[in-house]
Amino acid sequence: MTAPLFDRVALIGLGLLGSSIGHAAKRAGLASHIAGYARSEATRARALEIGFVDSVADSASEAAQGADLVILCTPVGSLGPVVQEIEAVLKPGAILTDVGSVKTAVVRDVGPYVPEGVHFIPGHPIAGTEQSGPDAGFAELFDGRWCILTPDPGGNRDALAKLTAFWEGCGSRVDVMTPQHHDLVLAITSHVPHLIAYNIVGTATDLESVTQSEVTKYSASGFRDFTRIAASDPTMWRDVFLNNREAVLEMLGRFNEDLSALQRAIRWGDGDALFNLFSRTRDIRRSIVEAGQETEAPNFGREPGRKEGVPSDGDQ
Ligand code: NAP
Repeated sequence: MTAPLFDRVALIGLGLLGSSIGHAAKRAGLASHIAGYARSEATRARALEIGFVDSVADSASEAAQGADLVILCTPVGSLGPVVQEIEAVLKPGAILTDVGSVKTAVVRDVGPYVPEGVHFIPGHPIAGTEQSGPDAGFAELFDGRWCILTPDPGGNRDALAKLTAFWEGCGSRVDVMTPQHHDLVLAITSHVPHLIAYNIVGTATDLESVTQSEVTKYSASGFRDFTRIAASDPTMWRDVFLNNREAVLEMLGRFNEDLSALQRAIRWGDGDALFNLFSRTRDIRRSIVEAGQETEAPNFGREPGRKEGVPSDGDQ
């Protein structure tokens, strides 16, 4: 048996992402000790009870003290203040990373508080579900999913190699890109789709000519799949839109133009335009299945009897 990659890993935030990392790191024996911190006593107690951490601390600083890998798993808007709180205890040579769904704003907010000698490597595992909290996590969440790292090009290569090995140990494949490119890619693959889901579910709720009970009753005709995405955590998604404003607005501009073209095709009875688009989109779906990021099974690959572990940050 090989030695663990890290002596002490600190997880700040013990919800879906923090707990899944804890489970996955334990499955692969990646850390000698996993320390955890969350805001509420209830979450900390539950994390210890489930057992995806070895200890919990009363403060983020106490958890991060002496850690050689600190992983921030709290909402994007909280990352700056959290790092401000722990900066004094970060060990020289330690790796500091995060799992936030936005990267440029995280570099902006966290960067100024990273002490000399600490290696800050922002990250984003493209894996998640619409569930939150310590009970939502599971060891397989990252299996076969991409994890994007956005290191400083002049940063320490050994630290990057070690963090890459950690994510591979958790089951992920790792890609490296700039924070700006990450935010553009995720705006179209994750953030705008979530906005569309939030919007369509909101619109259906406000309709006067179709009753709410009819919306619920006939939801299997497509609406239901939007409601799963629109059930995602409100705090997390508020922070995503507040912190990836430019990229989301740029992609929304493109989306609105294309939607107008579709509207025109419907108005003028242009069946060829509709058919051609729908054929192209079907091919995209096939290529996602072929890339192993989705199954052919209906229902978004949901397995009966299993926790709703559907990758939604992968579409996220
Ligand atoms: P979650 O299940 O709601 O868990 C959030 C955790 O952070 C909770 O333990 C919470 O503590 C703690 N927390 C919240 N605000 C805090 C603060 N100000 N200080 C300290 N702790 C705080 O959320 P999640 O889904 O794991 O998301 C965490 C991060 O992962 C976010 O940055 C998100 O963008 C990113 N992400 C999410 C997904 C996804 O699909 N959900 C996928 C990829 C990346 P309490 O339990 O005590 O409230």
